[in-house]
Amino acid sequence: MLDLASTYAFDSTESFAKASEEKVGAGYVYTRWANPTVDAFEAAVADLEGAQDAEAFASGMAAISTVLLAECSAGDRIVAARQLYGGTFELLSQTLPRYGIQTTFCDVADHASIEDALDGAKLLYCETIGNPRVQVADIPALAKLARAAGVPLLVDNTFASPVLCRPLEHGATASIHSATKFLGGHNDLIGGVVCAEPGVIERMRHIAREFGAVLSPFNAWLALRGIATIHLRVLRASESALLVAQALAEHPGVSAVFYPMLDGDPGRALAERLLGGYGGGMLAFDVAGGKEQAGRFQEELKVVQRAASLGGTRSLIVHAASVTHTQLDAEQLAAAGISEGFCRLSVGIEDPEDLITDLVEALDRAG
Ligand code: PLP
Repeated sequence: MLDLASTYAFDSTESFAKASEEKVGAGYVYTRWANPTVDAFEAAVADLEGAQDAEAFASGMAAISTVLLAECSAGDRIVAARQLYGGTFELLSQTLPRYGIQTTFCDVADHASIEDALDGAKLLYCETIGNPRVQVADIPALAKLARAAGVPLLVDNTFASPVLCRPLEHGATASIHSATKFLGGHNDLIGGVVCAEPGVIERMRHIAREFGAVLSPFNAWLALRGIATIHLRVLRASESALLVAQALAEHPGVSAVFYPMLDGDPGRALAERLLGGYGGGMLAFDVAGGKEQAGRFQEELKVVQRAASLGGTRSLIVHAASVTHTQLDAEQLAAAGISEGFCRLSVGIEDPEDLITDLVEALDRAG
């Protein structure tokens, strides 16, 4: 049901006053506080994630910034995996320090450094499958480290989606999504959501209403439409991504392929254990010959589109250093494992043979 109202009329001043005081529970008052379509979306995602509660936002970045502001105050320090979406990296490294919140970055697989860094920290943050190099985080092991340090583990589960991983079941405190991606699934909405226990959600709701970056009812409705097919889409994209990764690995124009379910990939055992034996719809690869060659190759593509974002029905490709990770300098790009020829591919639900033919022919034409 789509309810686009921004405000709701009351029969009596008494019921109006009561509902306004409670903001939710005693009737809908104002859509920045609560809306039935947004509530339905939150309930659906909480159900998918096996969470008690969820709060939706205007974007994935609104979800991430609000949960961090809810959990941290000036003087606090975050420990975060270095393998992160560029926008999140910038928030942690550039913006939050202006408000007195610092971040220590560690390699997501370096558990000894994470354990050391957690001493005196406020929370641990990582992505289930890191953007863009698709490294899989050992969530149960990280949750154990966080628990031992008495801090929450917040996981951005965007790349895996709840179809492949439910971080709360592995000990995480919160599972975060850019709903713009696999949840929405059609590249026609921007949204975000955080799933957690009611205490965390309540702290966040308070900040969310003040900062105001709430999900619009129309986008909630579109996201609910997306969720109806998420299982089919994510499994299809994962199966196709493995075939595409295998084909790219055999091409002489590609010097490295990163995909968790590829033989020899360091993420393989974790993908078997945490992602149900799937690698997800995202993969990455280095085009031999660097930036110019990667550009020539991308311009030759006819089925795969050159576009930002991911997790939708159509396959999209980006050159990470010039699109998604422009916030990182050369040193930071190297630390995140992003080379000059590095391409990130979001595999859609097209025929995998069409995708492989398109990619191989473009590599051949690029020389
Ligand atoms: N988290 C991940 C892993 C992402 O890839 C992105 C965007 O690409 C975001 C968060 C931010 O989401 P949004 O663009 O919806 O704000």
